[in-house]
Amino acid sequence: MGDTTKTYLARQGHGSVAMPAGALEFAREFTGKFSRRLSRMVPFRPFNLHLERPVVSFTFDDFACSAAKAAAPILEDAGMRGTFYYASGLSGQLENGQEIVRADVVANLFSRGHEIGAHTHMHLDVHRTPNHVILEDMEINKRRIAELTDGRAPTSFAYPFGRLDLRSKFLLRQEFDSLRGIQTGINSGVIDLAHLKAQELYDSSSSLESMSGLLDRLERKPGWLIFYTHEVKPDPTSIGCSPAYFREVVELVRRRGLTVETVADAFARVTGRTADTPAGAESI
Ligand SMILES: [Zn+2]
Repeated sequence: MGDTTKTYLARQGHGSVAMPAGALEFAREFTGKFSRRLSRMVPFRPFNLHLERPVVSFTFDDFACSAAKAAAPILEDAGMRGTFYYASGLSGQLENGQEIVRADVVANLFSRGHEIGAHTHMHLDVHRTPNHVILEDMEINKRRIAELTDGRAPTSFAYPFGRLDLRSKFLLRQEFDSLRGIQTGINSGVIDLAHLKAQELYDSSSSLESMSGLLDRLERKPGWLIFYTHEVKPDPTSIGCSPAYFREVVELVRRRGLTVETVADAFARVTGRTADTPAGAESI
């Protein structure tokens, strides 16, 4: 055994067996992937959801200016309100090429009856962020939102990038009434309030025909369908939609007479939870 190898083994704290750096990296990566996959499969806050009638929520991640400008009036014209997940640290900056709203727009939308949800302050990829950083960041996000919403702390959360792992999900699971990811599907049967399913509204990937078919299925088998998108403007990116497309989807929902509620309102109604019930008190 050469000196270099001896030194390496000593550094690793092993007597005679050491895992090469490449294998360590592989093990770490494998564990991370496993944790991310499991976090999407294992319900941390299971709730048995059986609805007589379906409910639909429209949500927006990051809170781009265009979503406030174009989508909010379309919802309001139809008598609906949406949930806007706000990453307060991005205010006035660009995220994925989209300008994020400033504080006054957040306060204005709240005053018009829309919900302001949490999305971390700095739009953290939580599965790559240490616990103490997540918690500090989240408190800032909650505080900034409360300042703009008559002191009400946000009760709905969306994981930035839709990414989570077992550790971050465990950490965040009780911090909000509901936590939404980007795993596709309708929430029904045993749902996970710590990782609600959602349906993207992107011109590039969700045709109006497929959205119509999805709403047909929702009517046949009632559940809670949560739409999400990012910017709403002509020529959107691959993770946004055009105002024309958004208006069509809202019209598909309106024509069916489906109930549309913000995430907080839908949560309160379908779970029967009141403000006095602590998050995580659900049972199945
Ligand atoms: Zn985001």
